[in-house]
Amino acid sequence: MIKVGIAGVPLALKGKSTGEGIKYLSDIGLDALEVQFVRRVSMKEETALAVGEIARKSKIDLSVHAPYMINLASEDPTIISDSINRIKLSVDRANALGAQIVVFHSAYYTKKYTKGETFELVKDACVGLLEYMNDAHITQTHLGVELLGRQSQFGTVEELQKLQQELPRVRPVIDFSHLHARCNGCLNTVEDFARVLRALSNRNHIHIHFSGIEFSKGNERRHLPVDLNQFKLLADALKQYGCDATIICESPLLEKDAAMMKSFFK
Ligand SMILES: [Zn+2]
Repeated sequence: MIKVGIAGVPLALKGKSTGEGIKYLSDIGLDALEVQFVRRVSMKEETALAVGEIARKSKIDLSVHAPYMINLASEDPTIISDSINRIKLSVDRANALGAQIVVFHSAYYTKKYTKGETFELVKDACVGLLEYMNDAHITQTHLGVELLGRQSQFGTVEELQKLQQELPRVRPVIDFSHLHARCNGCLNTVEDFARVLRALSNRNHIHIHFSGIEFSKGNERRHLPVDLNQFKLLADALKQYGCDATIICESPLLEKDAAMMKSFFK
C-alpha cells in the first residue's frame, strides 16, 4: 500500500490549525501529514492527543519532523545533548499524536571527527534515544534518520544502510530530492530508484520525501514543483518492489502536487 501526503499545513488552509489541515487532506483524498516542528516543539501534549484523534477519525497517517537545529555529532557536547532533547520531545509529541515516525536531520561532519567517528556519534545518540523510548514504552513510533542533501551533512545512502544494519529499529527516511541533489542528478531511471529502495527498505514500511530540487555541486539549493516524469520512475520502482510506503510531498505546490502523485497509485 502506498500512501501520499504533505508536510505542514495545506496551502489552501494557510494559517489554519493542524486539525483543520488533516480534515482537508482527507476531503481531497490524501492519506498522510507530516507535522513539522521547524524551530521547536511548539505543540502541547493535550493538543497532540486531540490532533491524533482527528487524524484517526479522518484516516490520515501522521509523522513528525523534529526541529532542524540538531547535530548529534557536534564538536560541542552541549549541542549534542540539546539535540537529543529536541528529538526526545519530538518523540513524546509523536507518541501523543499516534505518529508512526519521527524524522530528523541527524548531523553535520566537522573538522574534529572523521566520517567513521561521526557515524559512531550518531549511532550512540540513536542507541540512547531507543533506550529512552523503551523506558517510556513508546512502541508505535520509530526513529527516522533522513537522507540529507548537502555534502556537509551526515546521511548518505551508505551511512543510512550501515546504521539500519547495526540498529534495525532506526529507519532511514529516503528523501529522493536530497539524494538527487547530493549525487548531482543521478536519479534518472526506474532502476536508479529501485537500487535505493533495495539498499534502504529492509522490507519495512518506507518513509519517503519527494519534490523537485534545484542543486549545484552536490548540494541542494531549493525545493521545486514535482517533475511528474521523474516521479513516475519512483512509482514504477515502488510497484515493482512491492513495498509499503508513505510518500510526503515537500514541493512548493504541496497538496496540488501530492494529489497528482497519488493518482499514480489508483
Ligand atoms: Zn527533513
